[in-house]
Amino acid sequence: MSAYEAVIGLEVHVHLATASKLFCSCPNSFGDEPNTNVCEVCSGMPGVLPVLNRKAVEFASRMAMAIDATINQRSQFARKNYFYPDMPKDYQISQFELPLCEHGHLDITVNGKKKRIGITRIHMEDDAGKNIHPAGEKHSCVDLNRAGTPLIEIVSEPDLRSAEEAVAYLKKLHAMVVSLGISNGNMEEGCFRCDANVSLRPRGQEKFGTRTELKNLNSFRNVQRAIEFEIARQTDVLDDGEKVIQETRLYDANKNITLSMRSKEDAQDYRYFPDPDLLPVVITDEELAQWAATQPELPEAKMQRWMEEFQLAEEHAEQLVADPAVAAFFEKAAQLCGQPKKAANVILGMLMREVNAAQLDTASLAIQPEAVAELVTLMEKGTISAKIAADIFPDLMKGGVMPGALVKERGLVQVSDTGAIDAAVQKVLAANPAEVEAYRGGKTKLISFFVGQVMREMRGKANPAVVNEALAKFLG
Ligand code: ADP
Ligand code: MG
Ligand code: ZN
Repeated sequence: MSAYEAVIGLEVHVHLATASKLFCSCPNSFGDEPNTNVCEVCSGMPGVLPVLNRKAVEFASRMAMAIDATINQRSQFARKNYFYPDMPKDYQISQFELPLCEHGHLDITVNGKKKRIGITRIHMEDDAGKNIHPAGEKHSCVDLNRAGTPLIEIVSEPDLRSAEEAVAYLKKLHAMVVSLGISNGNMEEGCFRCDANVSLRPRGQEKFGTRTELKNLNSFRNVQRAIEFEIARQTDVLDDGEKVIQETRLYDANKNITLSMRSKEDAQDYRYFPDPDLLPVVITDEELAQWAATQPELPEAKMQRWMEEFQLAEEHAEQLVADPAVAAFFEKAAQLCGQPKKAANVILGMLMREVNAAQLDTASLAIQPEAVAELVTLMEKGTISAKIAADIFPDLMKGGVMPGALVKERGLVQVSDTGAIDAAVQKVLAANPAEVEAYRGGKTKLISFFVGQVMREMRGKANPAVVNEALAKFLG
């Protein structure tokens, strides 16, 4: 065991899926022609006034409720002053002393152990635009389509102790924002971004060590790898008797290393002050009550419901809710076939195997819940064996075909006819007299050899239960 304990706190930026930007009516959309969704307000012209988007306040509050936090019914926007070419106002509108939300928490499970992670605060802020660096050119371009779009920043307490805990926490947050419908959660497009603060301290010491802040972590895997790298790097620094420097480090996914980017600025460097153009954000009791009454079902509640209603194992329920798209797929399939446990098995087994192997996006699968439901029914009725189901599954993944039709077309219907199976058994026994003798002499393990031979004889289509019965009859 290492002499040091890692201490990790995450800052997560979530892009809110509102129709318009945070302080103007420009569309809040991704992938449009550069600088087409821009107005005087989000391009920082003089003399304009920002008007707060109420939907963003609702979305941020829904997140606050999901993590059992305190919502400040009066919060304040502040200017965070710094220069960057993609931020024409020269300040970011954020929240500082009076954020929308404080004192939340979220429970994670790692290696079977439950742990509560504190969430310090959630505040609202506007995003910057994007600098574009055309390949081979000596100039850069600025696209302001993203400038002024709404974000929430979710800041955790330094309660995480390993890369695994950090990823478990992030995945849970991610499933929450998607289930709430407040963000599409797309990490590659930067709609769910994470900075990781990492420090080490000697085991047993209470005082935290000096932290570094890791940026550019655009997938769960990169978060895991960057934190692991950084823990190893800081361990080396400390082992050499040197000091960790407080700084911002950039993660390079290709090389799997973190590189020093800049020394860390302190809050006072930003010259925060309340934004004089914006009134305090006031949330009424009526609004809170209405949002609470219409809060969508969260992954945790869904999981409990499935364990009670469907008798799903906790482990299975947990895996299914982890991805809201998979959760919705499962719910539909389970409802259609009326066999939740079997639908869960097919989805966590066959379907997730294909998803993981091909790195598919679960939100846009070609296969439909109807196909999984029909497959479960076919297995249940004994029309096909589990083996045939697994064999045809890769073709079902391509979509546009139902398992019943495919089974018919390929002549894969399971044979339960005792006449045909008896004949195959007799043929196999006649062809393997030595094994038959050995079996009768006590080597009963040979039964699986006979089953395999009969299955081969019948091209995998024999009903295994009937084969076993027939073998017992003729070998007995
Ligand atoms: P900023 O990074 O903007 O200065 P904060 O001071 O609020 O903001 O800290 C940001 C994050 O760093 C929080 O998630 C917090 O839990 C985490 N953090 C603070 N101190 C440490 C530390 N010594 N080691 C690891 N994480 C830390
Ligand atoms: Mg920070
Ligand atoms: Zn605008």
